[in-house]
Amino acid sequence: MKHNFGAGPCILPQTVFEQAAKGVLDFNGLSILEVSHRHKDFVAVMEEARELVKKALNVPDGYTVLYLQGGATLGFTISALNMTRGGKAGYINTGVWASGAIKEAKIVGVDVEVLASSEDKNFSYIPKGYAIPSDLDYLHYTSNNTIYGTQFQEQIKTTVPLVCDMSSDIFSKEINVSDFDLIYAGAQKNLGPAGATLYIVKEEVLGQFKTPFMPTYFNLAKQHEKESMLNTPPVFSVYVAMLNLRDLIATGGVKAAEERNNAKAGLLYNEIDNNPLFASKVAVEDRSKMNVAFVLKDEYAGLEEAFNKTWNDAGIVGLKGHRSTGGYRASLYNALPLSSVQVLVDVMKEFATKNA
Ligand SMILES: *Cc1c(COP(=O)(O)O)cnc(C)c1O
Repeated sequence: MKHNFGAGPCILPQTVFEQAAKGVLDFNGLSILEVSHRHKDFVAVMEEARELVKKALNVPDGYTVLYLQGGATLGFTISALNMTRGGKAGYINTGVWASGAIKEAKIVGVDVEVLASSEDKNFSYIPKGYAIPSDLDYLHYTSNNTIYGTQFQEQIKTTVPLVCDMSSDIFSKEINVSDFDLIYAGAQKNLGPAGATLYIVKEEVLGQFKTPFMPTYFNLAKQHEKESMLNTPPVFSVYVAMLNLRDLIATGGVKAAEERNNAKAGLLYNEIDNNPLFASKVAVEDRSKMNVAFVLKDEYAGLEEAFNKTWNDAGIVGLKGHRSTGGYRASLYNALPLSSVQVLVDVMKEFATKNA
Protein backbone atom coordinates (compact mmCIF):
# COMPACT_ATOMS: atom_id res chain seq x y z
CA MET A 1 0.00 0.00 0.00
CA LYS A 2 1.44 3.35 -1.11
CA HIS A 3 0.77 6.71 0.49
CA ASN A 4 0.52 9.18 -2.37
CA PHE A 5 1.50 12.72 -1.38
CA GLY A 6 2.01 13.75 -5.02
CA ALA A 7 1.03 17.27 -6.07
CA GLY A 8 -0.82 16.22 -9.21
CA PRO A 9 -2.17 14.22 -10.87
CA CYS A 10 -3.32 13.26 -7.43
CA ILE A 11 -4.81 10.49 -5.39
CA LEU A 12 -8.54 9.84 -5.80
CA PRO A 13 -10.75 7.62 -3.62
CA GLN A 14 -10.13 3.90 -4.14
CA THR A 15 -13.85 3.34 -4.82
CA VAL A 16 -13.66 5.91 -7.61
CA PHE A 17 -10.68 4.09 -9.16
CA GLU A 18 -12.69 0.85 -9.01
CA GLN A 19 -15.83 2.34 -10.59
CA ALA A 20 -13.73 4.08 -13.27
CA ALA A 21 -12.04 0.76 -14.07
CA LYS A 22 -15.46 -0.89 -14.41
CA GLY A 23 -16.59 1.87 -16.76
CA VAL A 24 -13.60 1.25 -18.98
CA LEU A 25 -14.75 -2.35 -19.39
CA ASP A 26 -18.48 -1.85 -19.38
CA PHE A 27 -20.45 1.37 -19.63
CA ASN A 28 -23.94 0.21 -20.65
CA GLY A 29 -22.44 -2.43 -22.94
CA LEU A 30 -19.64 -0.32 -24.40
CA SER A 31 -16.45 1.00 -22.87
CA ILE A 32 -16.63 4.59 -21.60
CA LEU A 33 -13.56 5.07 -23.81
CA GLU A 34 -15.47 4.29 -27.02
CA VAL A 35 -18.93 5.68 -26.34
CA SER A 36 -20.04 8.59 -28.50
CA HIS A 37 -20.06 11.87 -26.62
CA ARG A 38 -23.41 12.57 -28.36
CA HIS A 39 -24.98 9.36 -27.04
CA LYS A 40 -27.66 10.06 -24.46
CA ASP A 41 -25.78 7.99 -21.86
CA PHE A 42 -22.77 10.28 -22.04
CA VAL A 43 -24.87 13.43 -22.32
CA ALA A 44 -26.37 12.34 -19.00
CA VAL A 45 -22.86 11.98 -17.53
CA MET A 46 -21.93 15.50 -18.64
CA GLU A 47 -25.15 16.89 -17.21
CA GLU A 48 -24.64 15.15 -13.89
CA ALA A 49 -20.97 16.18 -13.70
CA ARG A 50 -22.01 19.81 -14.20
CA GLU A 51 -24.91 19.58 -11.74
CA LEU A 52 -22.80 17.94 -9.02
CA VAL A 53 -20.35 20.85 -9.10
CA LYS A 54 -23.28 23.18 -8.42
CA LYS A 55 -24.45 20.96 -5.60
CA ALA A 56 -21.01 20.49 -4.02
CA LEU A 57 -20.15 24.20 -4.05
CA ASN A 58 -23.65 25.66 -3.59
CA VAL A 59 -23.29 27.45 -6.91
CA PRO A 60 -26.10 30.01 -7.11
CA ASP A 61 -28.44 30.48 -10.09
CA GLY A 62 -26.95 32.54 -12.89
CA TYR A 63 -23.70 30.55 -13.11
CA THR A 64 -22.69 27.98 -15.69
CA VAL A 65 -20.35 25.03 -15.17
CA LEU A 66 -18.16 23.89 -18.07
CA TYR A 67 -15.61 21.13 -18.62
CA LEU A 68 -13.03 22.19 -21.22
CA GLN A 69 -9.53 21.06 -22.15
CA GLY A 70 -6.06 22.60 -22.04
CA GLY A 71 -5.56 22.50 -18.28
CA ALA A 72 -5.32 25.51 -16.01
CA THR A 73 -2.52 26.68 -18.30
CA LEU A 74 -4.99 27.36 -21.09
CA GLY A 75 -7.27 28.78 -18.39
CA PHE A 76 -4.73 31.62 -18.01
CA THR A 77 -5.52 32.60 -21.61
CA ILE A 78 -9.22 31.78 -21.64
CA SER A 79 -9.92 33.74 -18.45
CA ALA A 80 -8.01 36.79 -19.71
CA LEU A 81 -9.73 36.79 -23.11
CA ASN A 82 -13.22 36.41 -21.67
CA MET A 83 -12.79 38.94 -18.88
CA THR A 84 -10.98 41.75 -20.70
CA ARG A 85 -13.09 44.81 -21.49
CA GLY A 86 -10.20 46.59 -23.19
CA GLY A 87 -9.01 48.25 -19.97
CA LYS A 88 -6.60 47.29 -17.18
CA ALA A 89 -6.55 43.95 -15.36
CA GLY A 90 -5.08 43.48 -11.87
CA TYR A 91 -3.06 40.39 -10.91
CA ILE A 92 -1.62 39.20 -7.60
CA ASN A 93 1.68 37.42 -8.18
CA THR A 94 2.08 34.57 -5.71
CA GLY A 95 4.32 32.22 -7.67
CA VAL A 96 4.93 30.24 -10.83
CA TRP A 97 1.25 29.68 -11.67
CA ALA A 98 0.23 33.27 -10.98
CA SER A 99 3.21 34.45 -13.06
CA GLY A 100 2.04 32.17 -15.84
CA ALA A 101 -1.41 33.77 -15.74
CA ILE A 102 0.20 37.23 -15.96
CA LYS A 103 2.39 36.21 -18.87
CA GLU A 104 -0.44 34.67 -20.89
CA ALA A 105 -2.75 37.65 -20.30
CA LYS A 106 -0.05 39.93 -21.69
CA ILE A 107 0.44 37.67 -24.72
CA VAL A 108 -3.20 38.15 -25.71
CA GLY A 109 -2.91 41.91 -25.34
CA VAL A 110 -4.37 42.51 -21.89
CA ASP A 111 -2.98 45.56 -20.06
CA VAL A 112 -1.81 43.89 -16.86
CA GLU A 113 -1.05 45.68 -13.61
CA VAL A 114 0.61 43.53 -10.95
CA LEU A 115 -0.97 44.91 -7.77
CA ALA A 116 1.15 42.91 -5.35
CA SER A 117 3.83 40.22 -5.40
CA SER A 118 5.63 38.00 -2.91
CA GLU A 119 8.53 37.33 -5.26
CA ASP A 120 10.93 39.22 -2.94
CA LYS A 121 10.84 36.26 -0.52
CA ASN A 122 10.56 33.43 -3.05
CA PHE A 123 6.74 33.45 -2.75
CA SER A 124 6.79 32.24 0.85
CA TYR A 125 3.88 34.45 1.89
CA ILE A 126 0.62 35.95 0.58
CA PRO A 127 0.81 39.71 -0.08
CA LYS A 128 -1.48 41.90 2.04
CA GLY A 129 -2.47 45.54 2.32
CA TYR A 130 -2.34 46.52 -1.35
CA ALA A 131 -4.86 48.81 -3.04
CA ILE A 132 -7.25 47.51 -5.68
CA PRO A 133 -8.15 50.19 -8.26
CA SER A 134 -11.94 50.31 -8.66
CA ASP A 135 -11.81 50.62 -12.45
CA LEU A 136 -10.12 47.29 -13.21
CA ASP A 137 -11.74 45.03 -15.81
CA TYR A 138 -11.06 42.20 -13.36
CA LEU A 139 -8.75 41.03 -10.59
CA HIS A 140 -7.03 37.63 -10.91
CA TYR A 141 -5.47 35.59 -8.12
CA THR A 142 -4.35 32.04 -7.37
CA SER A 143 -6.09 30.77 -4.25
CA ASN A 144 -3.56 28.08 -3.38
CA ASN A 145 0.06 28.10 -4.45
CA THR A 146 0.75 24.44 -5.05
CA ILE A 147 4.52 24.80 -5.32
CA TYR A 148 5.29 27.00 -2.29
CA GLY A 149 2.59 25.82 0.09
CA THR A 150 0.89 29.17 0.58
CA GLN A 151 -2.87 29.74 0.47
CA PHE A 152 -5.22 32.68 0.71
CA GLN A 153 -7.05 31.98 3.98
CA GLU A 154 -9.85 34.35 2.96
CA GLN A 155 -11.33 35.18 -0.42
CA ILE A 156 -10.28 38.57 -1.75
CA LYS A 157 -13.05 41.09 -1.12
CA THR A 158 -13.48 43.60 -3.92
CA THR A 159 -16.10 45.35 -6.01
CA VAL A 160 -14.27 44.58 -9.27
CA PRO A 161 -15.00 41.31 -11.13
CA LEU A 162 -13.02 38.54 -9.45
CA VAL A 163 -11.24 35.71 -11.29
CA CYS A 164 -9.52 32.84 -9.51
CA ASP A 165 -7.30 29.91 -10.44
CA MET A 166 -8.46 27.37 -7.84
CA SER A 167 -6.70 24.37 -9.36
CA SER A 168 -5.22 23.03 -6.16
CA ASP A 169 -7.80 23.84 -3.50
CA ILE A 170 -11.19 23.65 -5.19
CA PHE A 171 -13.55 21.25 -3.34
CA SER A 172 -11.15 21.22 -0.36
CA LYS A 173 -13.11 23.85 1.57
CA GLU A 174 -16.31 25.84 1.39
CA ILE A 175 -16.23 28.88 -0.87
CA ASN A 176 -18.66 31.64 -1.70
CA VAL A 177 -19.07 31.28 -5.46
CA SER A 178 -21.22 34.41 -5.75
CA ASP A 179 -18.13 36.53 -4.99
CA PHE A 180 -16.51 35.35 -8.23
CA ASP A 181 -17.15 36.07 -11.88
CA LEU A 182 -14.96 33.25 -13.12
CA ILE A 183 -13.31 30.30 -11.40
CA TYR A 184 -11.15 27.77 -13.23
CA ALA A 185 -9.27 24.68 -12.14
CA GLY A 186 -7.38 21.82 -13.76
CA ALA A 187 -9.21 18.64 -12.75
CA GLN A 188 -6.15 16.67 -11.73
CA LYS A 189 -5.60 18.14 -8.27
CA ASN A 190 -8.83 17.44 -6.45
CA LEU A 191 -11.52 16.59 -8.98
CA GLY A 192 -10.45 13.79 -11.28
CA PRO A 193 -7.84 12.61 -13.75
CA ALA A 194 -5.93 15.05 -15.96
CA GLY A 195 -7.67 16.05 -19.17
CA ALA A 196 -10.58 18.21 -18.07
CA THR A 197 -10.51 21.77 -16.83
CA LEU A 198 -13.40 23.08 -14.79
CA TYR A 199 -14.87 26.56 -15.35
CA ILE A 200 -17.55 28.15 -13.18
CA VAL A 201 -18.68 31.34 -14.84
CA LYS A 202 -21.23 34.02 -14.01
CA GLU A 203 -23.58 34.03 -17.00
CA GLU A 204 -23.83 37.81 -17.14
CA VAL A 205 -20.13 38.12 -18.06
CA LEU A 206 -20.44 35.76 -21.04
CA GLY A 207 -19.84 37.43 -24.39
CA GLN A 208 -18.85 40.78 -22.83
CA PHE A 209 -15.18 40.58 -23.88
CA LYS A 210 -13.49 43.36 -25.82
CA THR A 211 -10.66 41.76 -27.75
CA PRO A 212 -10.03 41.42 -31.47
CA PHE A 213 -8.81 37.86 -30.95
CA MET A 214 -11.36 35.29 -29.78
CA PRO A 215 -11.07 31.76 -31.18
CA THR A 216 -14.41 29.96 -30.94
CA TYR A 217 -13.15 27.33 -28.51
CA PHE A 218 -11.94 30.00 -26.07
CA ASN A 219 -15.26 31.84 -26.12
CA LEU A 220 -17.06 30.77 -22.95
CA ALA A 221 -20.34 32.14 -24.29
CA LYS A 222 -20.15 29.58 -27.12
CA GLN A 223 -19.10 26.80 -24.76
CA HIS A 224 -22.08 27.61 -22.53
CA GLU A 225 -24.44 27.72 -25.50
CA LYS A 226 -23.27 24.22 -26.53
CA GLU A 227 -23.61 22.94 -22.94
CA SER A 228 -19.91 22.11 -22.71
CA MET A 229 -20.07 19.97 -25.88
CA LEU A 230 -18.83 22.40 -28.53
CA ASN A 231 -16.44 19.67 -29.62
CA THR A 232 -15.54 16.23 -28.26
CA PRO A 233 -15.11 16.78 -24.52
CA PRO A 234 -12.56 14.83 -22.41
CA VAL A 235 -15.04 12.00 -21.98
CA PHE A 236 -13.16 9.80 -19.52
CA SER A 237 -11.98 12.66 -17.36
CA VAL A 238 -15.51 14.07 -17.08
CA TYR A 239 -16.84 10.60 -16.25
CA VAL A 240 -14.37 10.09 -13.41
CA ALA A 241 -14.95 13.64 -12.14
CA MET A 242 -18.65 12.76 -11.94
CA LEU A 243 -17.86 9.58 -9.99
CA ASN A 244 -15.59 11.53 -7.65
CA LEU A 245 -18.19 14.24 -7.06
CA ARG A 246 -20.79 11.58 -6.25
CA ASP A 247 -18.35 10.16 -3.71
CA LEU A 248 -17.58 13.61 -2.28
CA ILE A 249 -21.26 14.34 -1.75
CA ALA A 250 -21.94 10.87 -0.31
CA THR A 251 -19.15 11.37 2.24
CA GLY A 252 -20.52 14.61 3.63
CA GLY A 253 -19.71 17.07 0.87
CA VAL A 254 -17.19 19.87 0.87
CA LYS A 255 -17.93 20.83 4.48
CA ALA A 256 -16.92 17.39 5.77
CA ALA A 257 -13.92 17.30 3.41
CA GLU A 258 -12.80 20.64 4.86
CA GLU A 259 -12.96 19.24 8.39
CA ARG A 260 -10.91 16.19 7.36
CA ASN A 261 -8.41 18.42 5.54
CA ASN A 262 -8.04 20.67 8.58
CA ALA A 263 -7.28 17.65 10.73
CA LYS A 264 -4.68 16.33 8.28
CA ALA A 265 -2.92 19.69 7.91
CA GLY A 266 -3.03 20.28 11.68
CA LEU A 267 -1.40 16.93 12.36
CA LEU A 268 1.44 17.52 9.90
CA TYR A 269 2.18 21.18 10.76
CA ASN A 270 2.22 20.26 14.42
CA GLU A 271 4.91 17.69 13.71
CA ILE A 272 6.95 20.10 11.57
CA ASP A 273 6.82 22.74 14.32
CA ASN A 274 7.81 20.32 17.08
CA ASN A 275 10.30 18.09 15.30
CA PRO A 276 13.92 19.25 15.88
CA LEU A 277 15.04 18.29 12.34
CA PHE A 278 12.43 20.05 10.22
CA ALA A 279 11.13 23.56 9.55
CA SER A 280 8.56 25.35 7.45
CA LYS A 281 9.70 28.41 5.50
CA VAL A 282 6.15 29.61 4.81
CA ALA A 283 4.57 32.50 6.75
CA VAL A 284 2.54 30.78 9.47
CA GLU A 285 -0.68 32.67 8.73
CA ASP A 286 -0.49 31.78 5.02
CA ARG A 287 0.16 28.05 5.32
CA SER A 288 -1.63 25.89 2.79
CA LYS A 289 -3.83 23.05 3.96
CA MET A 290 -3.44 21.28 0.61
CA ASN A 291 0.31 21.45 -0.05
CA VAL A 292 2.53 21.43 3.01
CA ALA A 293 6.09 22.54 2.20
CA PHE A 294 8.89 21.84 4.65
CA VAL A 295 12.67 21.44 4.74
CA LEU A 296 15.37 19.74 6.75
CA LYS A 297 16.94 22.51 8.86
CA ASP A 298 20.27 23.72 7.44
CA GLU A 299 22.30 22.01 10.15
CA TYR A 300 20.68 18.69 9.23
CA ALA A 301 20.95 19.09 5.44
CA GLY A 302 23.38 16.15 5.36
CA LEU A 303 20.55 13.81 6.38
CA GLU A 304 18.66 14.29 3.14
CA GLU A 305 19.56 10.98 1.55
CA ALA A 306 18.88 9.03 4.71
CA PHE A 307 15.49 10.71 5.15
CA ASN A 308 14.56 10.05 1.52
CA LYS A 309 15.33 6.38 1.99
CA THR A 310 13.29 6.24 5.20
CA TRP A 311 10.08 7.61 3.73
CA ASN A 312 10.53 5.61 0.54
CA ASP A 313 10.80 2.46 2.63
CA ALA A 314 7.58 3.41 4.44
CA GLY A 315 5.68 3.35 1.12
CA ILE A 316 5.45 7.13 0.85
CA VAL A 317 5.60 8.56 -2.69
CA GLY A 318 5.55 12.06 -4.16
CA LEU A 319 7.10 13.86 -1.17
CA LYS A 320 9.88 15.65 -3.02
CA GLY A 321 9.50 19.43 -3.23
CA HIS A 322 9.14 21.23 -6.56
CA ARG A 323 12.41 21.65 -8.42
CA SER A 324 12.22 25.44 -7.90
CA THR A 325 11.98 25.25 -4.10
CA GLY A 326 13.71 22.02 -3.08
CA GLY A 327 12.89 20.42 0.25
CA TYR A 328 9.69 18.47 0.73
CA ARG A 329 6.06 18.93 -0.15
CA ALA A 330 3.26 16.80 1.22
CA SER A 331 0.09 17.29 -0.81
CA LEU A 332 -2.97 16.49 1.27
CA TYR A 333 -5.72 16.41 -1.35
CA ASN A 334 -9.23 15.31 -0.39
CA ALA A 335 -8.72 11.60 -1.02
CA LEU A 336 -5.54 11.29 1.06
CA PRO A 337 -6.57 9.63 4.34
CA LEU A 338 -5.51 10.88 7.77
CA SER A 339 -3.84 7.49 8.27
CA SER A 340 -1.35 8.30 5.47
CA VAL A 341 -0.48 11.58 7.18
CA GLN A 342 -0.01 9.64 10.41
CA VAL A 343 2.46 7.33 8.62
CA LEU A 344 4.48 10.37 7.49
CA VAL A 345 4.39 11.93 10.96
CA ASP A 346 5.54 8.65 12.52
CA VAL A 347 8.40 8.44 10.01
CA MET A 348 9.48 12.00 10.87
CA LYS A 349 9.29 11.33 14.62
CA GLU A 350 11.28 8.13 14.41
CA PHE A 351 13.86 9.75 12.14
CA ALA A 352 14.32 12.54 14.68
CA THR A 353 14.72 10.07 17.55
CA LYS A 354 17.55 8.39 15.64
CA ASN A 355 19.26 11.49 14.27
CA ALA A 356 18.62 14.62 16.32
C1 LIG B 1 -1.08 22.59 -11.43
C2 LIG B 1 -1.51 24.00 -11.48
C3 LIG B 1 -1.62 24.70 -12.68
C4 LIG B 1 -1.26 24.09 -14.01
O1 LIG B 1 -2.25 23.20 -14.34
P1 LIG B 1 -2.29 22.42 -15.75
O2 LIG B 1 -3.66 21.81 -15.69
O3 LIG B 1 -1.17 21.46 -15.75
O4 LIG B 1 -2.16 23.43 -16.83
C5 LIG B 1 -2.07 26.01 -12.65
N1 LIG B 1 -2.38 26.60 -11.49
C6 LIG B 1 -2.27 25.96 -10.31
C7 LIG B 1 -2.65 26.67 -9.05
C8 LIG B 1 -1.83 24.64 -10.26
O5 LIG B 1 -1.73 24.00 -9.10
